[in-house]
This record gives sequence, C-alpha cells and structure tokens, in this order.
Amino acid sequence: MRLTIQGAFLFLFIPLVLFLYLRQPLGPGLSIALGVVVMFGHRLVAAPWMARHAAERCLWCGRHLQPEPMVAQDFSPAIHVMSAGREHRMTACSPGHRDLAARFLTFIARYRAPIAIGIFVPLVVLLLSSLFLAAGRPLLPQTWNVWQFRTIVAFTVVVVSMAYRTVPRADEQLRSPFPLHNLFLLGIRNTLWVFRLVGAWWLVAGAIQLLRE
Ligand SMILES: [Zn+2]
Repeated sequence: MRLTIQGAFLFLFIPLVLFLYLRQPLGPGLSIALGVVVMFGHRLVAAPWMARHAAERCLWCGRHLQPEPMVAQDFSPAIHVMSAGREHRMTACSPGHRDLAARFLTFIARYRAPIAIGIFVPLVVLLLSSLFLAAGRPLLPQTWNVWQFRTIVAFTVVVVSMAYRTVPRADEQLRSPFPLHNLFLLGIRNTLWVFRLVGAWWLVAGAIQLLRE
C-alpha cells in the first residue's frame, strides 16, 4: 500500500507538468520554465525510486509481490529491460503479467519512431509557440496550440494503449525507448488506463472545440 501511494504521488508530477504547459497559470514564460524544471527534476527522484523497488512490484499491475517461497518454482519473475543505456531488472507477479509487460515493451521499441513523433513534435510546437507568446509574438492562437498538443498526443497514447496487443510474441531482449520509471510508477496496466481515459476525454473535447469554432 505504501508503494502504491508513493508511486501515485510521484506520478502526479506528470499531470502537474501538463497543467503548467497547457494552462500556464504563471503566464507562458514562467509556467513553461517551471514545467521544464519539474520534468527534469522528476526523473532524479522517480528513477532511483524505481531502482529501489523494482524487485518488490509487478511492472505490469503494480501489485506488491509475495515473498520468495510463494512464487512457483517454474516461473522466473525477472524481466530484464534495457533503458537509458543500462539494464534494469524488473519483476512480474505472474507469467501472464510478465508476458503482457514484455509484449508492451516490444511494441513501443518496434514503433518508437512514430510514437516519439506523436508525442514530441506536438510538445515542441506547444513549447515553442508558448515561448513566442511570452515574447509577445504568438505563432498561432494559444487555444489551437493547446488543441494540437492534446489531440495528437491523445491519439498517439490511445492507439498505443490498445495496439500493443497486436504483438504476438515478445522480443528476447526487451528495451524501453521511453523513461521506464514513468511506466513503473502506477504499473504499465494502470498507466494505459490513464492513457485511454484522459486520451478519450481530450479527443472528445478536441472534437467539440473543432465543431464550435
Ligand atoms: Zn502483476
């Protein structure tokens, strides 16, 4: 329970950064600057937290793992994942969850280029346009700047949250091209539910905005 709360607390910094980037409560310049500081600072806390608890929690569901004797003899719970230039020894609570986590990681490694484009291009547009706005020369109206980010990112993460199921078999060597700690904080399964729910909300809100304008 303690780990679940800690993980959820650390995860909350991600919506905090999005709030700063999208709502810009301190004005465009200061909000973006603070968001960037929180984003990079978050990694310094969340990555070591994952390293400390990787052996205690299922990477897929986030469940706290039973002590060693409870684990079936014929199942190795370890999941070795290369990420950010080093190997991480993660854990799963069951063969089924090991398989799902491995297939998901295989999917994001195979399609890392389109996934990265679907997240980082709208992010760069959002940040650049906000900085121009801070300088008094907006590139595009801020409502459409926010719209392009939310719509493209929502589409990307909703597709990812479902399409990983199309991978029939995981690769031998697993890699995470994106920060693994962000997936570990809630467990991959719960993170994908956040993607689906927030993604659906952003897509519907985006469609309504498009129809109203
Ligand atoms: Zn599990």
